[in-house]
Amino acid sequence: MAKTNKWWLERSYKTKKSLTDEIRKIINQIDDDYFITDEEDLELLTWVLSHHHDYLSKIDGSTNFKIKVRRSLANSGNKELLIIRDDGTEVDISWTKALNPQGSSTHKEDLRNAAVQAINYQVLQFKDKNTDTICCLCKMQIEEKIEACHYEPRLDELLTQFFGDKDEMEKIEIKDGSYASRYFDPELSERWTTFHANHATLKPAHKKCIRQRKR
Ligand SMILES: [Zn+2]
Repeated sequence: MAKTNKWWLERSYKTKKSLTDEIRKIINQIDDDYFITDEEDLELLTWVLSHHHDYLSKIDGSTNFKIKVRRSLANSGNKELLIIRDDGTEVDISWTKALNPQGSSTHKEDLRNAAVQAINYQVLQFKDKNTDTICCLCKMQIEEKIEACHYEPRLDELLTQFFGDKDEMEKIEIKDGSYASRYFDPELSERWTTFHANHATLKPAHKKCIRQRKR
């Protein structure tokens, strides 16, 4: 089912290799354990990484993460990238995987990403107002910061109700913003946020419980 989506054509890289060469050049200029500081390089790498299938959980809501270069632990001839999230936690992310057909995000994942970004304000408002500290999924006390869970219906159910089935979703245009944000056209975004406000039931949950839940 993995289709080869030549997303690098968006930025006029004619081949995957021309983009790969440029990434290697950027990474090889940086010493081990140093950050990517050049803004254009950072923007380019962020764009590439945003196609990683697990990008959203890697950045974990960070809007201002940093990228660090590290010597590969598995193969000392290679350098790897680490994402340093806004809260200081770090996670490795494979840029080569982001370039694989299997590693790249699907249209559905891009749509989900855009849909989540569009409702960000509602999620923040929910977190602000919420006083309940029992996780809706495991029913245990939440000691750390709460996360907003789409209890019933699940987020993917809401997406299907609003956007339609897979074929309908394929027709929706998703645009690339800076820092790998994804967005719809404003009119669609407006309709989706209204739909979400009327149909979603947000409840507090543990971050790990949301991650473990089936989508
Ligand atoms: Zn829980």
